[in-house]
Amino acid sequence: MAKEIYLTNNLSNKREQFVPMDENNVRMYVCGPTVYNDPHIGNARPLVIFDILYKVLKNKFKSVNYVRNITDVDDKIINFAKENNVSIKELTDKIIKSFAEDCKFLKCEEPNYQPKATQHIDLMIEMTKTLISKGFAYENEKHVYFEVKKFEDYGKLSNKKLDELIAGSRIEVSNNKKNSEDFVLWKPSNEEEPGWDSPWGRGRPGWHLECSAMSKKFLGDEFDIHGGGIDLIFPHHENEIAQSRCANSTKTFANYWVHNAFLTMSNEKMAKSQGNIIKIKDFREGNISGQVIRFALMSAHYKQPLDWNDKLLKDCQNTLDKWYKVYDQNFETVNITAEIISPLYEDLNTPGYIANLHKLYDKAVNGSDDNKKIFISACKFVGFLTEAKEEWVSYKKKNVSLSEKEIEEKIDERNKARAEKNYQKADEIRNELLDKGVLIEDKDGKTVWKFK
Ligand code: AMP
Ligand code: ZN
Repeated sequence: MAKEIYLTNNLSNKREQFVPMDENNVRMYVCGPTVYNDPHIGNARPLVIFDILYKVLKNKFKSVNYVRNITDVDDKIINFAKENNVSIKELTDKIIKSFAEDCKFLKCEEPNYQPKATQHIDLMIEMTKTLISKGFAYENEKHVYFEVKKFEDYGKLSNKKLDELIAGSRIEVSNNKKNSEDFVLWKPSNEEEPGWDSPWGRGRPGWHLECSAMSKKFLGDEFDIHGGGIDLIFPHHENEIAQSRCANSTKTFANYWVHNAFLTMSNEKMAKSQGNIIKIKDFREGNISGQVIRFALMSAHYKQPLDWNDKLLKDCQNTLDKWYKVYDQNFETVNITAEIISPLYEDLNTPGYIANLHKLYDKAVNGSDDNKKIFISACKFVGFLTEAKEEWVSYKKKNVSLSEKEIEEKIDERNKARAEKNYQKADEIRNELLDKGVLIEDKDGKTVWKFK
């Protein structure tokens, strides 16, 4: 039974005990969304995984500071706004609002800070100036580049060797860079593009810079955990490390690097560019509880790919439905034991925690009120049973395409068929009702029905 928290640290490629720099101020930064399109359920995976990590950290430590940024200046945003003939502000405001609703729907707690890139451009300009003055960056034709070979630890996170990177990036053409592997810190904006005045002319930052600048502001030069999806390891996180360590002259940046694996569909990464996305909003606006999506996202360990399908959703829905039957909102929540929470302490083993919930349910279903309280509290800890029972039932009602009158009529029709010994027809009606979300049961000579 783990009393300490363990995490797989991608910097060492090992599972390590998590030891914060300051027990009274545990600090975590997670890369947030680029706000040009409604987030999809692949994007929901880091939201839920790092929400669980936040809860686990808060379970052990008194004070946890969780920062997740919003990228609201980026070429993808500029291009999307142009193609769709909307202003950048209109687009980013709309997606930021939709994203906040998605987070709520998924039962994620709000981070302590959600800084926007556009509100921290001054800090990015400062950091770029520092990098130039320390000799790690250079200006050319209104662009500023980070000179990769000046930072000897470049590639340590992604296990890439600088020589190979240099060889691999030769094909990349740029007139402004000294070396093809260098990356951009600042670039000029034309009149139509968003831009800020800087010592290098009107322009905007390269993407990586914002996380270095905002993590410094909210968490300091060195902090505990940095997270995101695995696609961010290279180049984004590698570049963040280079910028931050060189600008701040530190030995480390974040001590633990935690990355979730991909959510896939038919074993292909879910991505806008693949055209295989399901938006979180599609579920939010449908008749499904966010708890079901959350459950599905927790059903695989975060280091494993998770293949999304309808059966997964159905299974999660059925389990929650069963669990709601023992839910009583009048029960007060109790502290859950170290034994129950143990799988989450061991590298966020969410399937292991769900297995514990199944065991607690078995004890609760015919057990004492104390057993029920423990089960309900353990569910609530990870964001399950967080909606009132009526709300849960209301999703099911909304999924039923028949009115109560129509249901009663179908039942009468079935009873007539049974009286005429036409059991085939009776079964057909029962199955039709089942398909439409209504379960019927014959009890004490009467037929009763409920939402499936
Ligand atoms: P983006 O808005 O593309 O910058 O992505 C926001 C977050 O979602 C990042 O942490 C990505 O790594 C993560 N992400 C994007 N696609 C997937 C996916 N298919 N599975 C898991 N995480 C993803
Ligand atoms: Zn980032």
